[in-house]
Amino acid sequence: MKEKEKNIYEIAQLLPQGEIDQQSIQDAVVQMLTAFGEDPKREGLLRTPARVARMYAELLEGYRLDPYDLLNDALFEVDYDAMVVVRDIEFYSLCEHHLLPFIGRAHVAYLPKGRVIGLSKIPRIVDMFARRLQVQERMTRQVAEFINEVLNPMGVAVVVEGLHLCATMRGVKKHDARMTTSTMLGTFRSNLATREEFLANISRGSDPLL
Ligand code: ZN
Repeated sequence: MKEKEKNIYEIAQLLPQGEIDQQSIQDAVVQMLTAFGEDPKREGLLRTPARVARMYAELLEGYRLDPYDLLNDALFEVDYDAMVVVRDIEFYSLCEHHLLPFIGRAHVAYLPKGRVIGLSKIPRIVDMFARRLQVQERMTRQVAEFINEVLNPMGVAVVVEGLHLCATMRGVKKHDARMTTSTMLGTFRSNLATREEFLANISRGSDPLL
């Protein structure tokens, strides 16, 4: 494997084993329902374990996607060096501390150095890192490092605004429920004007998260 590919796989942090073990999830959900004091055999719950297993397979598919399939020849060599910004990318992830959703928006920018990526791929990269058990800080950094490795640009910036249901639903620390995280690499880190251009761009009129 070439050095470049090795780095991309390292950042992608795929899980080594194949498909998610849906049977074990089903068994575990039956156990949880029983532990709740519920009757897993009552009609409303009968198919819940199978549904939950399918749901997790979908929500956690991010660490089983091959990043090269995802990029799928969408990299282009061009003579273009102005800032590319993709804002308001919706994402849905699961917090690894509670297995509850955190949802929100990601804003991604980069300054190309001879290479760009098809615009539709950036939301897919965000998705790849969102569809896992995550913490928002790590997801933000992974998206930035992945794009940095794939494009080798002058710089990458990622800002993520997330609403954490584990905080809102549980009625604790409500003020902590919304969180903003950011990773700035290259010129976005070293050059104030570049960083401010990006931050001004993403602060213009977004709809509220929820
Ligand atoms: Zn949580």
